[in-house]
Amino acid sequence: MSTTTPPTHPQRAGLHRILIVGGGAGGLELATRLANTVGRRGLSEVTLVDRYPTHFWKPLLHEAASGHRDPASHHIEYAALARRHGFHFVQGELEALDRSECLATVGPILDLNGNDVLPRRLLRYDSLVLAVGSVTNFFNVPGAERYALPLENVKHAEEFRQKLLTACIRANHLREAGAALPEPTVNINVIGAGATGVELSAALRNAINLLSTYRLNSLEPERDVRVRLIEGGPRILPALDQRVSAQTHARLAGLHVDVLTATPVSEVRADSIVTVTGTELASDITVWAAGVAGPPLLKALDGVELNRQGQVLVDKTLQTLSDPRIFAFGDCAACPSSIVGVFLPPRAQVAHQQAVYLSQSFLRRLTGKRVDRFTFRDAGTVVSLGRAGALYQGDFGLGLRSLIVGGRAASGLYAFVYRRHLFALAGLTRMAIETVSQWLRARIRPSIKLH
Ligand SMILES: Cc1cc2nc3c(=O)[nH]c(=O)nc-3n(C[C@H](O)[C@H](O)[C@H](O)COP(=O)(O)OP(=O)(O)OC[C@H]3O[C@@H](n4cnc5c(N)ncnc54)[C@H](O)[C@@H]3O)c2cc1C
Repeated sequence: MSTTTPPTHPQRAGLHRILIVGGGAGGLELATRLANTVGRRGLSEVTLVDRYPTHFWKPLLHEAASGHRDPASHHIEYAALARRHGFHFVQGELEALDRSECLATVGPILDLNGNDVLPRRLLRYDSLVLAVGSVTNFFNVPGAERYALPLENVKHAEEFRQKLLTACIRANHLREAGAALPEPTVNINVIGAGATGVELSAALRNAINLLSTYRLNSLEPERDVRVRLIEGGPRILPALDQRVSAQTHARLAGLHVDVLTATPVSEVRADSIVTVTGTELASDITVWAAGVAGPPLLKALDGVELNRQGQVLVDKTLQTLSDPRIFAFGDCAACPSSIVGVFLPPRAQVAHQQAVYLSQSFLRRLTGKRVDRFTFRDAGTVVSLGRAGALYQGDFGLGLRSLIVGGRAASGLYAFVYRRHLFALAGLTRMAIETVSQWLRARIRPSIKLH
């Protein structure tokens, strides 16, 4: 049982206390950068709170879900990074805020029997930064939350991978036993053809091919497993250029992904999905990748204003509208873009640029300098289709046509984005060692997780 009188977590008085909640793509980079700047100069004490003990870079989740990446090789321990850079790490889930006292309540950590490992704690802040990411938006589609799998964290990715493996092992066994089976035997439906849905569908086809070569030799991937990508709008990758959308569609078809566009889903059932026209499609595994919303926790925070998607409304300095001591960025924030009324998209690139901006603006604030506004510079988008290559779209404004690049350059850019993240956290030497060790591991292990 958790205690009811939370003790205040020990913190140093006298220093400006920056409390960052959420150690994801944005929050962990910010904690690292701040510790290296304002922390090292003795201007501030930096504390990072996350509900998990380790960080996994979210854009790799579809590769973890398909078994191409073993999350165990890509976890970064917060405590190790905290010690190296000199910030504090507190494990627990933000539960509540008391804005008048500048106190954040972090929930208890319980063991498997529900006993406290760590009690509920109170953390004092002078500046609070919310970087708690996003959750899946099921858009109230009946059955979606109950029967479709989201892809928000490593646990979801592993749950999906186990379902995929189990379904394929069963189908392989039945084929070996000579059972009369429907074709296809396994139906996987990915709902939502944004970058996540597209990348996951491509990774799945490749994963199923690999599984059939390693241990499931009676499985014929194209006959036995159907991967459908279902999009409500008229084309896949609606946020990208028409040409990227068309080229990706063609490559997915080449990979034997069945792409259905203009097909909104109206219901998800235990073993099927229903489209708005009433068509019922068999589904052994349904994945929901059709949009994100702010985490429900944000609604419970004292006086923090949200938009319709439940994201925190911030101004161009990433401060919340109701309280200048509270900042929000990354997926959980609704940050105005250069187009009036349009917010920046939930992307790692946005979170990264905002982390860089916030680390610089805190230094300026704490040394009495003027703080500029945040400006997002779109460095382009890469969509990876695994062995079918990648496509990069760069937009340079001024009415110019988008630049579209494929081939090795696009695949290289895709790999570079993760390396840049590692570099920001660990520095050049560690990033290089990590890269080499991951490369070596990939040489000695099967290219897909088999259990
Ligand atoms: C499969 C997939 C593929 C993607 N691919 C790309 C891509 O190719 N390019 C791209 O730009 N973007 C991509 N994205 C989007 C990108 O991952 C996000 O935009 C990015 O991770 C947002 O960073 P963040 O720091 O805001 O949130 P996150 O990285 O989601 O981190 C949020 C952190 O907050 C913690 N947290 C949440 N609630 C609490 C709480 N109450 N208390 C304490 N801690 C909490 C979580 O544990 C987590 O560590 C992809 C997303 C997915 C799911």
